[in-house]
Amino acid sequence: MQSVKMILCVVGVCILAPRVSCQTPPAAKRIVIGASTVLDGRGRVLHDTRIVIEGSRIVSVDANAGPVDYDLRGSTVLPGWIDAHAHITWSFGKDGKNAGMAGTTQEDAYQSASNAWLTLMAGFTTIQSPGSPNDIPLRDAIAKGNLPGPRILTAVDPLIGKGEATGTPEEIRAFVRKQKQAGADLIKIFASQSIRQGGGMTLSQEQLNAACDEAKKQGLRTLVHAYKDAVRAATHAGCTEIEHGTLATDDDLKLMAQRGTYLDPQCGLVIENYLLNKEKYVGTPGYTAEGFAAMEKILPMNHELVQHAVKTLGLKVVFGTDAVAGAHGRNAEEFIDRVRDGGVDPMAAMVSANSLGAEAMNLADQFGSIAPGLQADIIALDGDPLKDITAVRRVVFVMKAGVVYKNVARGAIPAYAGVQP
Ligand SMILES: [Zn+2]
Repeated sequence: MQSVKMILCVVGVCILAPRVSCQTPPAAKRIVIGASTVLDGRGRVLHDTRIVIEGSRIVSVDANAGPVDYDLRGSTVLPGWIDAHAHITWSFGKDGKNAGMAGTTQEDAYQSASNAWLTLMAGFTTIQSPGSPNDIPLRDAIAKGNLPGPRILTAVDPLIGKGEATGTPEEIRAFVRKQKQAGADLIKIFASQSIRQGGGMTLSQEQLNAACDEAKKQGLRTLVHAYKDAVRAATHAGCTEIEHGTLATDDDLKLMAQRGTYLDPQCGLVIENYLLNKEKYVGTPGYTAEGFAAMEKILPMNHELVQHAVKTLGLKVVFGTDAVAGAHGRNAEEFIDRVRDGGVDPMAAMVSANSLGAEAMNLADQFGSIAPGLQADIIALDGDPLKDITAVRRVVFVMKAGVVYKNVARGAIPAYAGVQP
């Protein structure tokens, strides 16, 4: 309670969030939301109805329920969004420069808490961080209700492909088990170099097979950072989801659709954010002037990947931003990029961050839709994203697990031009 109030003031959002509920509601507490337009997260639109919540869960969707506690008529109501790929602890340091995601000072910890708050206020009630050991205390503090933020799933330490030096299949299996013991919810695997360095494969087929097979045996999903040939190799290895996927061929995408492998491409935000914050990144580990020149060429390749993914029948495309320092709280920009530059249908964009995003986490029975029995993760937008995708910038209401974290009047949030206000 105390810590929640403190964070509100640290990040200076008291004005934007005049009504903040900090307590977990008692199990019997009943809340009714009135809505004129509801996107149910599965592709359907409901009109003039009410959503009934008891404790942390939705108990019914019933036009006759009452009395109404939150009247959200005039807004578009939908499930809280899911970002499949956000590096929640990745921040700028005291000197204003990229500090990565592994800092352990008090400033770093507050910065991570701030990232979590901004992400939640932007309408994201669940994120998957692939991954950092620093995610664990943040994940657990949020799960206990001690800090406001999205529900976090983390990979802890990723398996970084280094060719032969990565290890034998047995050593790779041991690494996967070690992450599980450290509290990982999933396994992240780097099977390609950075695209800025060419994107070549860094794990053999045999190594990838071992990593994804062992994760499956441990009941964990696998997210594979993969470009070009690594996309096909990871799909053959039975991994769960491909991150990025740049320069995958149409045949690779078809194979993914056949095998049910999820694709999490990035259509803009991650590169746009790097370019916007170039002076804060250049000269920090992994970021060179040449790398930045390469990024400008990669952006259209990423647009092209999404354009081809949209046309691949049966391919399951989830929503992930790869948010790093500078992008937290602006995650929804990726929706605009996908619709504007990737040719994604706005409803498909919403579903990719709702029921499909939850399905990719094996958690579709927990959240991602507005339906009885599911977690009450509910947001509202000032505007209709099906008609104007920039409405995703105007999140006026955020409820996570039955707790209201944000409730501002329509018109309170300016339609800023994609830059953090
Ligand atoms: Zn990433």
